[in-house]
Amino acid sequence: MKIGVDIDNTITHTTEMIMHYARIFGEKHGLNTVADPSYYYLEDALGWERDIAEHFLDVYLPDIYREMRPKDQAVEVMRQLKDEHELVLITSRNQKFPEVEQVTLEWLERYGIAYDGLILNATPNKHFFSKLGVCKEQGIEIMIEDHHDLIMELAQAFPVIVFDYPYNRHINAQNVYRVTHWQEVLERINQLAAKRSAI
Ligand SMILES: [Mg+2]
Repeated sequence: MKIGVDIDNTITHTTEMIMHYARIFGEKHGLNTVADPSYYYLEDALGWERDIAEHFLDVYLPDIYREMRPKDQAVEVMRQLKDEHELVLITSRNQKFPEVEQVTLEWLERYGIAYDGLILNATPNKHFFSKLGVCKEQGIEIMIEDHHDLIMELAQAFPVIVFDYPYNRHINAQNVYRVTHWQEVLERINQLAAKRSAI
């Protein structure tokens, strides 16, 4: 099968690393550093002005992307999946941001992430893009994702395996399979692949 895989908060612990740097930046500038985890976006989770959050991300994102770690078993499960399936990484990381594409490629190499293709966001929105068009173009049959709007959009077309977070917990739609660990991703994909070959 052709599987789409998001990167941030799917392969990686991105929010933890963002909050680590947000604490340093916030303390330096007298901003709130206690996040509300039910919000996805930094300005909402911390109550920062949007332009302050943008400035923070402009400065810190390359370091954040460089220093984050893969989730437990992500590397191993992706290697196993790649033996039987095609894995296309589809991320809202924007290739127009300085360093982002290069830092991402280096990080994937450093951790030995197994994948067949990488598609970055090339839209004017720095932090989000609709992935449905790209998934259709690529012939994606399953997506692994955490972003609430993307889950809703993609689940209308094919199964979406969702990494559980407070900000996506309100979603309970058909085609949505919630997981908390990469081992569950593997089990779920095996089930979906078996179901598909039985048709
Ligand atoms: Mg994500």
